[in-house]
Amino acid sequence: MNEFAWAYTFMLTMILLEVGILKYVQGRDIRWREAISNLNSGHLVMLMFRGLEIYAFGLLFTYCSLHWVDQWPVIWQWIFGFIAWDFCFYWMHRLHHKIPVLWAVHYVHHQGEEFNLTLGVRNSWYSSLTNFPFIAWLAIVGLPLEIFIVVSSIHYTVQFYNHNAIVKKSGILDRLLITPANHRVHHGLDSRYVNKNFGGTFLWWDKLFGSFQAHEAHIDDRIGLKSGMPSYNPLLFNHRPLPVFVTRIFPGIKSWRTTDLPENFIGFCGILLFVISIYYVNLQGSTTSLIQWSFFSWVLLATFFIGGMSDKKLWGLVGWIAFCVLFPTYSLVFLHHSQWQLLICFSLLMVSALKGIAHLLQNRQRHEC
Ligand SMILES: [Zn+2]
Repeated sequence: MNEFAWAYTFMLTMILLEVGILKYVQGRDIRWREAISNLNSGHLVMLMFRGLEIYAFGLLFTYCSLHWVDQWPVIWQWIFGFIAWDFCFYWMHRLHHKIPVLWAVHYVHHQGEEFNLTLGVRNSWYSSLTNFPFIAWLAIVGLPLEIFIVVSSIHYTVQFYNHNAIVKKSGILDRLLITPANHRVHHGLDSRYVNKNFGGTFLWWDKLFGSFQAHEAHIDDRIGLKSGMPSYNPLLFNHRPLPVFVTRIFPGIKSWRTTDLPENFIGFCGILLFVISIYYVNLQGSTTSLIQWSFFSWVLLATFFIGGMSDKKLWGLVGWIAFCVLFPTYSLVFLHHSQWQLLICFSLLMVSALKGIAHLLQNRQRHEC
């Protein structure tokens, strides 16, 4: 087994152990629908983005690093990495509660209403992407990739442990570290618990920056969000919050319509997609089935977006713009497909993305007038 498979096996073993204790020792009911939706929000898609995060960190370290930290004695590199990562996590987490579009991502973790290890796995599929800008500077100052991977994995393991439902109090550690009691406060519904204890491993950041709140026995410690659990389907609960919070930042967006998308723009996009489909058909038998399936999924998704644009839906245009940027990135960076025909096609996709963005901006100005 590789290291990711070992990590997943370890998590599943701990989760089953906790379930066993909760059910057979403490006689508590297990809310399986919630527990499974937690796990389903935290496995393969999140792992893929974690892989992307590590890859991007490596690229930054290789091409953009100032190489300060990697000149230090190794022990100091490790100590710096361990503390600096936790510092970055504190601010990353705090700002994910503060900035609406980041909260739309982190919100998924807070939807959980049962405090247990599966909640530690529940995270938005996109959390690694929105976390990255906060940890990227570690690569810039020269923290080696292997130290980054190990220290972040240790901190994530501590965070996973901090969601367990078995350990209520941790003695002196409750005053030094983020423990299950301290982290339960962070998930609390009570107004005295809201926006407290953002730390990951060390408690001192919360004490230093004024966000610490001790767990107190007399405060109701139910967890979750006032809006409740909207769905148990990861595909829905990972995406629903985003339009809600985007609408909050741009209230005018509700009135946006793509009613006047020119016919020839739709035609241009449709023909481009058809050319990509021909490339896909031509791949049959000459590449792995995984690549074929991934191409098929992209084509299917783009078909859906063009349909949305044709029906004058804003999401159709936004989705198409995202496709025009992400699909070439995927093909070039991950598959190394760079035949000249594809490169021409990708350039035309970029042109269509820019035209789409220009249309969005024009549309917005019209509604603001
Ligand atoms: Zn949080």
